This record gives sequence, C-alpha cells and structure tokens, in this order.
Amino acid sequence: MKKIFLLAFIFWFNFLFAADNKINLLELYKELHANPELSYQEFETSEKLALILENIGYKVTRNIGGNGVVALLENGEGHTIMLRADMDGLPVEEKTGASYASTKKAVNSEGKEVFTMHACGHDVHMSVLIGAAEYLFNNQTQWQGTLLLILEPAEEVSGGARNMIKDGLFTKFPRPDFNLALHVSSSLQAGKVGYLPGWAMANVDSVDITVKGLGGHGAYPHTTKDPIVLAANIITQLQTIVSRKIAPTDPAVVTVGSIHGGTKHNVIPNEVKLQLTLRSYTDEVRNETLSSIEKIVRGSAIAAGLTEEYFPIVEIKDEYTPAVFNNPDLVEKLQKSFVKSLGSENVIKVSPVMGGEDFGMFGRVEPIIPTALFWLGAVNKKVYEKAMREDLTLPSLHSDLFLPDAEPAIETGVKAMSNAAIDLFKIKN
Ligand SMILES: [Zn+2]
Ligand SMILES: [Zn+2]
Repeated sequence: MKKIFLLAFIFWFNFLFAADNKINLLELYKELHANPELSYQEFETSEKLALILENIGYKVTRNIGGNGVVALLENGEGHTIMLRADMDGLPVEEKTGASYASTKKAVNSEGKEVFTMHACGHDVHMSVLIGAAEYLFNNQTQWQGTLLLILEPAEEVSGGARNMIKDGLFTKFPRPDFNLALHVSSSLQAGKVGYLPGWAMANVDSVDITVKGLGGHGAYPHTTKDPIVLAANIITQLQTIVSRKIAPTDPAVVTVGSIHGGTKHNVIPNEVKLQLTLRSYTDEVRNETLSSIEKIVRGSAIAAGLTEEYFPIVEIKDEYTPAVFNNPDLVEKLQKSFVKSLGSENVIKVSPVMGGEDFGMFGRVEPIIPTALFWLGAVNKKVYEKAMREDLTLPSLHSDLFLPDAEPAIETGVKAMSNAAIDLFKIKN
C-alpha cells in the first residue's frame, strides 16, 4: 500500500513541479482536496507536504506531535515568525459535484468506515502555506530572520496544537515572536480577507451528563424516580446560565445537542444521557459556566428526591479548544500589510464567532507569543452576489456542499500571508 502511494506520489510530484520549477498550487489543492485524511491519520498528506517543503529548500522535521511537520528557514538576524496550516479533513460525504470531489473513505476512531472530505478548507490552508513557503524562499533578499512553517495535524479534534507544543515545538525549534494563521471563510468573497482584533473564536468544551433515576412502570410513576423529567428540568435550568449567570456583555453559549433515554412508551428508564457544547471567550466565563452546570444538576437531583449515589455524573471532555485571541497590535500591523498588498476594498473588518480553532493554543504558552488568525474569503464572486440578491444561505464550513473558489482564494492567501510575514520581519524591536 505504502509503495503504491509513493509511486503515485513521485509521478504527481514531477507533474507538480513541471513548469519552470514553480509549484502549481491549484493542482496541489485539487490533489489534497481529493484525498482528505481524518484527524490523527494525516500520514500521506504530511509526507507529501514534507517532501515539497524539502524540495523547495527548507529544513524539515517530521512527526512533531504525531503527523505534525515543522519546516525551518534561517535567513540571518531578525524575528522568528511562525506560519501555520492544518491538515485534517472531516468525516463528511462530499456533495459538491466538483470534478476533483473526494470519494475517499476511512475508518474513524470508533472503527466505523466513513466518507472523508476537506469540508473545513484545510486543503486551501495547506496550499497557501506551500505557496508562501515558495515565495518567501525565493525572495530571501526582502527579509531577514527565521521562518518557521508548521503543518498541524488533528485540528478538528483539538489535539494537534497541544501535541506539537508538548513535543517541543517551542523548545526544539526557534521560539516565534509572532504566530500567524488563516482560516477560509464561507461568508467572505474569494479575493478578500477579514481581520479582527481581540477575541476572534471561542473556547469550546464538550460535556456529557448522565442523569440517573430509578426506572419502573410508566403507569406507576410515583414508585420511580423519573430521569426523563429530571433531564427535562436540567435542560430548562441550563438555559439560565447564559441568561442569568453570565453578564449580558460577555458572550456564552450552552447548547444541549443530544438527549437519549428510554426504550418504550410505558417504561421509565434508569438513565438519560445528554451531550452539551459550551462556548465562551474568557476563562472566567468558561469556569462560571462549568461550575453552574455542576450546581444545577446537583440541585435538580436533590429536588427530585435522589440521594448522593444517584446524582447525575458530569464529565468534561479533554478535547477542550481554547479561544483565539488576536493580539490587537499584531492585527493592526497585519491590517496595514493587507491593505498594501490587496487594496483597502479587499480588507474587511469582521465580527467574532463562537466557532473554535485549535490555533488559539499556540498563543497561550508562557511567555505569551503575539498571535493572530485572519479569515480568507473563499466564496465564488458570482455565487456570493447571487446569494446576496436572492437572500440565499451559503453553505457553511463543515457542510457537504462547501466548495471554496480555490484559485483566487489561494492566490489572495499567498499574497496576504507572504507580505504579512515580510512586513513583520521588518518591525524593529
Ligand atoms: Zn473545522
Ligand atoms: Zn478548520
């Protein structure tokens, strides 16, 4: 299997570099798009990109925090700048109808075969990173310093950044003075970029609650402790966290996305399971939300007449994604750089979202590294204009219909990213 991959890859690799030794980024994008790999399984993707970066001339280290790749270019005295792209696809069956649409399948962490798709645009991120890598390598007279390019695995499950840091990203390699990344936007036109200072994306927590009870006959509820009624009560009470516990000026989300319990009309079950997603920006709001959940489930269980051993079990999952905080000084510099390279009409201030991005983790290591993520427009101009005219909803990230307008998006991304890096290298201490 590995041999077949390597042979196919060598053929493609030669093709990729064919014209005047410049990388055909659209071909690279299509190849990546057609071959998405799930989180923790980015074996072929990381190897392909590691080989390309080596071929350009970077010093490449593989397997940092799993499939993570670090590419280094030392070019004299100056700042160290880190540029990141993420590599994983999602368990989604692609329905875009593109000629290069993914038909790939993979076995997920539960042993189930699933379709895979680059539904979050990480294929665009990788193509842009390679484009910027090539541009910055070929234009070393324009900048001085150390360039650290990283390819992050397992972003979608919030493990990649943590694993790369744990594996020595900031100790084995030169420590960055700035961290920079982009993410495609499903609501901005291709050709444009979006920026915002401060909180940009949210803390994400997943919580499981097992509501216990004493089951029995549906016709004799007084002889039971009904976990379905208790779960319903808990869900209603949870709504008071955002409305009554958190200051109205602090964004927060508590969503119960799943509830399962019972088997039949007339049987009161022994337990009900709930799955929640929580969103916030600050650590204070995050902690308040988590502790409020504990209090609500305990209080509701006491009111339902349950004793301690039947109190609901609250499990906060490890896969926590920290919020992305865009360093305001850094964003101001980026905004100026984008206006210079793309024109002011293509640089748009956007609003924060409650989605999550593992990239926030790179900005939380002490001492804090100024970090910023900006949005790269990915919607085809005509599609965008039609949607505005007819009030249509555009496919969001993670949708099986999400298809970036790759050529202009990648071109814009490479321009924005490369010039931003060059401008940041020029900042005096
Ligand atoms: Zn995603
Ligand atoms: Zn993403």
